Amino acid sequence: MFRAVDAHGPFPRMSRPISALISATALRHNLQRIRQTLDAARAPGQAPAKTWSVIKANAYGHHIEAVLDGLRQTDGFAMLELDEAQRCRAAGWRGPILLIEGVFEPGDVREAVALDTTLVLHGFHGIKVLEAGGGAPATDVYVKLNTGMNRLGFREEELGQALARLQGLQDQGKLGRIGFMTHCATADGPQGIADQLAHFQQAVQGRTGPVSVANSAACLRFPEQAGDWVRPGIALYGASPFTDQSAASMGFRPVMTFRAELIGVQTLKPGEGVGYGFGFVAEQAMRVGVVACGYADGYPRHARTGTPIQVHGRRTRTLGTVSMDMLAVDLRGIPEAGIGSEVILWGAAGPSVDEVADAAGTIGYELLTAVAPRVKRRIQE
Ligand SMILES: *Cc1c(COP(=O)(O)O)cnc(C)c1O
Repeated sequence: MFRAVDAHGPFPRMSRPISALISATALRHNLQRIRQTLDAARAPGQAPAKTWSVIKANAYGHHIEAVLDGLRQTDGFAMLELDEAQRCRAAGWRGPILLIEGVFEPGDVREAVALDTTLVLHGFHGIKVLEAGGGAPATDVYVKLNTGMNRLGFREEELGQALARLQGLQDQGKLGRIGFMTHCATADGPQGIADQLAHFQQAVQGRTGPVSVANSAACLRFPEQAGDWVRPGIALYGASPFTDQSAASMGFRPVMTFRAELIGVQTLKPGEGVGYGFGFVAEQAMRVGVVACGYADGYPRHARTGTPIQVHGRRTRTLGTVSMDMLAVDLRGIPEAGIGSEVILWGAAGPSVDEVADAAGTIGYELLTAVAPRVKRRIQE
């Protein structure tokens, strides 16, 4: 269905040695892993949950075209922007597409219909946009409920009025089926989702239509509550939605290997510094490697000295301040490393993206989605 091609075309021979390898095998495995968890929690005879694989933010930085093949067993893809939907269709995806924030202006409705998307309606403004855009005869929608997160969604007391408007559209043949969704603020923490789900169930009680409530954290911690369609994102890419549980410990495999090479080696004398502001000063003579990766590639500038990194197959640490195009690493104990040695910033053979994120005071989501367009993505099996 999808051609497994390099999303950026063939590598130019003299390109800067940095790339992100995207593993189709890991994507397949992770999707399967989520489904196993959900299936194990289903009551006997209950239909399996269907999966909207979330590929917003250019597939969490992996590049949409680079993940479609690995995720081809999904039931649908969920994303934010019309042009992401267009890219899925252009790449050959014929199945369901969910626009998780719906349409933003009346002019979008026609294109959303042409792309055969499912739309989320999260407020009266969205209904107005749909009406002004002429409606969408065969388009299914999810009505999103605000069950406490207070970002998007109708409050319970607004739901009756919203549904009356939508049923009006349906009666005129300008709308497909109506489902219900919500998003949980604390699925990854000790508070859990019981309160939010109680609000949700009260609001949708007695109404029919598919239900979607679970992101990765909710799928993994509350699989028995997953509803008809789940919406995992981060776990598909092999990173963790939790700060207290690693992706590997839950059986997920990293999809992205962010790799570069050493392009310089320096031998420091005691007291000499490296990089801007001499962010690291050597106490003893030592070899320092210079990596072809900086914050303009998406490596976090806030990563402190000591952030884990893999060089020539050995785990070591970063040194000093991350520059725009380069960063420095400790080569003590790796005498065989030299120019051209492989460096894994994060991924299967190196530290996890979550370990690097932790050292930079952020989360894996931010690092993955920040990998810069100038880094070439290559699909691996
Ligand atoms: C981003 C998003 C998800 C996926 O969240 P993960 O934590 O990456 O699993 C699910 N639902 C909605 C509405 C989202 O915006």
